[in-house]
Amino acid sequence: MWSVRAAAAAAAAGRGAAFRARGLAAAREPGELELGPREALECDVCVVGAGPAGLASAIRLKQLDDSLAVTVLEKGGEVGAHVLSGNVLEPRALDELLPGWREQGAPAGVEVSEEASFFLAAGGGAVPLPTPPPMHNAGNRVVSLSRLVRWLGERAEELGVEVRGGVSRSITHTPNPP
Ligand SMILES: Cc1cc2nc3c(=O)[nH]c(=O)nc-3n(C[C@H](O)[C@H](O)[C@H](O)COP(=O)(O)OP(=O)(O)OC[C@H]3O[C@@H](n4cnc5c(N)ncnc54)[C@H](O)[C@@H]3O)c2cc1C
Repeated sequence: MWSVRAAAAAAAAGRGAAFRARGLAAAREPGELELGPREALECDVCVVGAGPAGLASAIRLKQLDDSLAVTVLEKGGEVGAHVLSGNVLEPRALDELLPGWREQGAPAGVEVSEEASFFLAAGGGAVPLPTPPPMHNAGNRVVSLSRLVRWLGERAEELGVEVRGGVSRSITHTPNPP
């Protein structure tokens, strides 16, 4: 169990960051396991998970306010390690977040050039079907999401985001005391 009291006391002694993220460690109450020294990270915003959503949030926060201390904690050993999906990417959000991302060395995959739908019959054979409008992918990109996320992690770090992999356990955060 975490000792909220110990974490709050530590935060009260800190330099006044809005949030304090902690790795699993030794906030001990009587009878608790001793797990070694506690690690503390001070930051204004702590994002849990370096997937596309977490990294995009961190990048946007730094774009809006460079003075914010933003940390991203990822349970995978490195960014992208737990993002396994191949992906048809609708690139509008990325165009808005990082204009010109395709030309900046991003693993942008290939653009969908044609598409088709088939009904696969049990006995073999494929019957062509019209592709329903929501499944149209013209202009979208076929990418490795893992590689794209790794690239986003690098962009985040360039903006000053602290990205930490291998944070695989529970995390407590202690709001800044008044
Ligand atoms: C097989 C498959 C195919 C898909 N195909 C498509 C597609 O073609 N097109 C499309 O748009 N979308 C597709 N998706 C969906 C797309 O992958 C997700 O919408 C997208 O990855 C969600 O992004 P996210 O950042 O919210 O979460 P995730 O990508 O799941 O990232 C979450 C991250 O948080 C980390 N994490 C989780 N818990 C913790 C914790 N406690 N502490 C620290 N880190 C933590 C994880 O390791 C991971 O890196 C597909 C998904 C799958 C599984």
